[in-house]
Amino acid sequence: MMRTQVVGTLRAEDVGKHVALCGWVAARRDHGGVVFLDLRDASGIVQIVADPSQVGEAVHRVGREWVLRIEGDVRARPEGTVNSDLPTGAVEVSADTLEVLNEAEPPPFPLAERADDVDEVLRLRYRYLDLRRPHMQRNLRLRATVNAALRNSMAGQGFVEIETPMLIASTPEGARDFVVPSRLQPGAFYALPQSPQLFKQLLMVGGLDKYFQIARCLRDEDLRADRQFEFMQYDAEMSFADQEDVMAVVTEAVGAAIEATTGSRPGEVPRMTWHEAMERFGSDKPDIRFGMELVDLGAVFAETEFRAFQADAVKGICVSGLGEVSRSTVDNLVDRAKLLGAAGLVWMRVKEGGGLDAPILKFLSEKEQRGIVDVLGAQPGDLVLIVAGERRMANHVLGILRLDLGRPPVNEGGLQLLWVVDFPLFEGLDADRRPIPAHHPFTMPHPEDLELLDSSSGEDLLAVRSQAYDLVLNGWELGSGSVRIHSPAVQQKIFSFLGIEPEEAQARFGFLLDAFRFGAPPHAGFAFGIDRLTALLAGEENIREVIAFPKTQKGADPLTGAPSPLDPPQLTELGLTVKPRPAPKS
Ligand code: ASP
Repeated sequence: MMRTQVVGTLRAEDVGKHVALCGWVAARRDHGGVVFLDLRDASGIVQIVADPSQVGEAVHRVGREWVLRIEGDVRARPEGTVNSDLPTGAVEVSADTLEVLNEAEPPPFPLAERADDVDEVLRLRYRYLDLRRPHMQRNLRLRATVNAALRNSMAGQGFVEIETPMLIASTPEGARDFVVPSRLQPGAFYALPQSPQLFKQLLMVGGLDKYFQIARCLRDEDLRADRQFEFMQYDAEMSFADQEDVMAVVTEAVGAAIEATTGSRPGEVPRMTWHEAMERFGSDKPDIRFGMELVDLGAVFAETEFRAFQADAVKGICVSGLGEVSRSTVDNLVDRAKLLGAAGLVWMRVKEGGGLDAPILKFLSEKEQRGIVDVLGAQPGDLVLIVAGERRMANHVLGILRLDLGRPPVNEGGLQLLWVVDFPLFEGLDADRRPIPAHHPFTMPHPEDLELLDSSSGEDLLAVRSQAYDLVLNGWELGSGSVRIHSPAVQQKIFSFLGIEPEEAQARFGFLLDAFRFGAPPHAGFAFGIDRLTALLAGEENIREVIAFPKTQKGADPLTGAPSPLDPPQLTELGLTVKPRPAPKS
């Protein structure tokens, strides 16, 4: 038997037991006479006391991360040496044999601590060592718990787990495709799935009724703290179901994952319309862990003489306790607001007694000044920030300043889920004044707005709502879903709105339109990012901390060297030639 047990479970009750343990040397203290070793395995750490006269002089050579097998007796630590920081801290193992299973070079960085100061490229280059770190062990196990809870919950809710293919034709989710050249058809390419969207809809036409999958998705877009090229998605679709049905299923599954990892279920998940989210938080993914809401000051300035406030919208936020902040900090906020698209940012300090102090006060009437303080509920010592101008812009700018100034760290303020509903169908107009879809083009318009869709054009189309809904957790967009179009006629109409000509629609999505002609059930679905959910549950700001082998911000894998050039014969076989990249325009 290699080992009788793992090291991390040894306790005072085990004193007197003879054990065989295997693991890595996390630390060693050589006192000449005896050598103390911290032996680490997946379960934790225990102290080993090795007497060279017993286990052999070779123990003096043992270094960090060597792999050992030890046999010995568990004994209570001598009084005064109990380590209460360590779950096994009441005991130690007195070794009678020590076998070196493998030697190790010294690791390029310390493995004991979180070591956030270690360069990330170095960590990823030696990821297998980085994974020995306690927090990475914890995060990956937590991730497995999340996956298991989701699978259990979905199976319990009657969903069938079905894998969809990786080599496909493009699925539009608004990102760039990763493509794979076809050897058998040189010059032709597969796309890797941005999502299983079209296949899950086809599964509904295929009568599978309730589908789910923990799916790998790939999107070639710039990487950020909450984004990787490839990510894992909880993906679901159900037939003869509406928005409420889907939201109930997803709430249950997410609740199960949260309960499995934290021990308690979230309460009822609040809801907000997209419009309300934009007005109150300046974001379609509001972080509702804190207030500092955007307040409409339109009524206060309805008759203002101040030109800058005679605008489509005047909105403000009140930053509690920031009134004493330095002039240069305020100047930075003004610059930031301008960079985000505002013409300017008006700021005011609230004085003792409730009066205001600001360079622009002379342009405002007494009543307006009082109005600002009242409507914002500002207190002495607060800083008031106001943006005026086009409404979407004002909301956007203040929404970002609110996050900059108020957002708590990821592991504070609990887990605040929020459903955002009634998203618009289109998020804006492109250069040709064509609507840009807010979600993928298979999203059903809101039934009450179908007429609007027929009668509107240009800007007016932006008022058309869709049956799309997002789930937000602590200000992160966890995922989104929608009721789908299931009629070929409505789908064609949406394609034509988006400027996808019938021939192009037929060429790209003909298979879906064909399928819809053979009795497509009404259906709806959802997907959310498992990396994001796990990161938030682990209290990590960066999803790379919960992924075993992530890419760097530049999309590289320092461990395997991907991406890397192909050999000329491989290129030839695929019918590819690589041209030098054109020099960037100056
Ligand atoms: N396919 C969508 C996405 O990946 C989610 C959905 O609508 O089900 O974002």
